[in-house]
Amino acid sequence: MAEERARHPVGGVDYPRTMQELQAWFPDDAACLAYLERLRWGAGFSCPLCSGASFWQAGDGLRVCRACQRRTSVTAGTIFHRTRSPLQLWFMAAWLITAQKNGMSAQSLQRVLGLRSYETAWAWLHKFRRAMVREGRDRLRGQVEVGETLVDGVSAGYAGGSTGRACVMVAVEKPGPGRVLGRIRLGLADRPGTPGLMNFARNAVEPGSIVRTDGALPGVRLVASLLQRWLTGTLHYGVAGHHLPYYLDEFTFRFNRRSADHRGLLFYRLLEQAVVTDPHPLEEILDPDHNPYWNFS
Ligand SMILES: [Zn+2]
Repeated sequence: MAEERARHPVGGVDYPRTMQELQAWFPDDAACLAYLERLRWGAGFSCPLCSGASFWQAGDGLRVCRACQRRTSVTAGTIFHRTRSPLQLWFMAAWLITAQKNGMSAQSLQRVLGLRSYETAWAWLHKFRRAMVREGRDRLRGQVEVGETLVDGVSAGYAGGSTGRACVMVAVEKPGPGRVLGRIRLGLADRPGTPGLMNFARNAVEPGSIVRTDGALPGVRLVASLLQRWLTGTLHYGVAGHHLPYYLDEFTFRFNRRSADHRGLLFYRLLEQAVVTDPHPLEEILDPDHNPYWNFS
């Protein structure tokens, strides 16, 4: 039953449906911690050091592994690792990011949350982006179109500068009845060409699916134009090349959940993935060499 619930979370039970419910559910940090514990360890505790399942609860809210005595907090090793900000603020950020259909700029997030620095808002957005798509999960299936598109307005530096184009690989499912497009996956290509596209398809698409890469691909073309519009319309300026993979993840997260009945379900999914996503300190986010996919030339 609990497992069934996890797969089909219920509004008002598993996630707040409105801003009022959000505020009522999470009046303090303790309520936020309890929610994160449910998301991270709801199916059972696992020690990050030895994978032991047995623990005792220490008075300070930490769990202590019975096998190796390691003390763990629910935020350790997640994007909330060692944060000095109240979790309530993080939750509000997650709500705002998911409540808006097209996302939110760091500037608006800073203003609405009253954060002291722009850098904090910017870093939070990037940390959440890293939790939006999990490699190897939710592969596409059925009939899938796979193709490439060139995206404009990508810059090589931090602060704009010369802008160029990047090659983005697109996989899109043939939709069910009454829908224009199914789910998508996106990837950044080093260079246009078949070998990279085949690797991308292998990662993005369930084995046994029918993949089309030739001829007219209306789904790929439509996704490409929506992506370009989102990148230039929402962000208003050139995306730094080494951050592009994470913007692609954000677009994918939003696109694949665009018809969710409640925006609250996106909030739930985002936090659910945030508690299993590595911390990604700011220095790493800022470091262009740290990006495993990107090679700007
Ligand atoms: Zn342990």
